Amino acid sequence: LVSRKWKVNPTVIDFGDGLQVKEGELTLMAGPCSIENEAQIEKTIQHLVANNVRFMRGGVFKPRSSPYSFRGLGLEGLKMFYDMCRAHGIKIVTEVMQVSQIAPMEPYTDVFQVGARNTQNFNLLDELGKVDKPVLLKRGISGTIDELLYSAEYIFSGGNEKLMLCERGIRTYETASRNTLDLNAIPILKEKTHLSVIVDPSHGIGIREYVEPMALAAIMAGADGIIYETHEKPEEAASDGAQTLSFSESERMIWKMRKVFALK
Ligand code: PEP
Ligand code: MN
Repeated sequence: LVSRKWKVNPTVIDFGDGLQVKEGELTLMAGPCSIENEAQIEKTIQHLVANNVRFMRGGVFKPRSSPYSFRGLGLEGLKMFYDMCRAHGIKIVTEVMQVSQIAPMEPYTDVFQVGARNTQNFNLLDELGKVDKPVLLKRGISGTIDELLYSAEYIFSGGNEKLMLCERGIRTYETASRNTLDLNAIPILKEKTHLSVIVDPSHGIGIREYVEPMALAAIMAGADGIIYETHEKPEEAASDGAQTLSFSESERMIWKMRKVFALK
């Protein structure tokens, strides 16, 4: 069902207020790795509004390698995040980690993100197939392109067609970067599926200085959107600071991404 053979026309996801995620438009989603506090949300919103970015990302349930790392503000943080963004017409993208979180999160979520550690959590995918909210499905840490498409199939076949795919880097033998952003996946996915392909260069490379070139490369390779991490003070971020852009770096990258997209 997610194949171009089955549906030729690219999927369009309508968010109202003239906001759509679709082929031919560059969708930008930016924000911190983790939602930390009210001031942080407020400053990020100001940055996004000033740059006409319509989606804010941010986790309140964080999948951390160590159980002692910051694991997010939870549902209370999500409510604050959602209310503040709604007041500015910004849509939120946030990770759901398990089935039991879907119902409580739903009223406060615009896009459910499925993280790389949950790409093959088939129970979670089944349940998201029944939800009337868009889903951003990330590629698994060591997942193949076909596995990503089969995971997408779970959600789509359950009845939820508001689905986007996300290439976020895969684990390879390379250790110079956090993950290896698979640029190859972009044209391959674009050919195989009618779903939008959003690229996450922050997790894809994991090194702040190289996020911008990878974002630009992804756009040239055919990405329909970019999701990335930004924070007022990346060095103080509660998670993923090393791959997080400052607002001035983010602003410069937004400018370049729009230029490059227009050139395509
Ligand atoms: C994130 O977006 O902060 C995140 C945890 O992403 P991933 O699931 O791709 O590691
Ligand atoms: Mn992160």
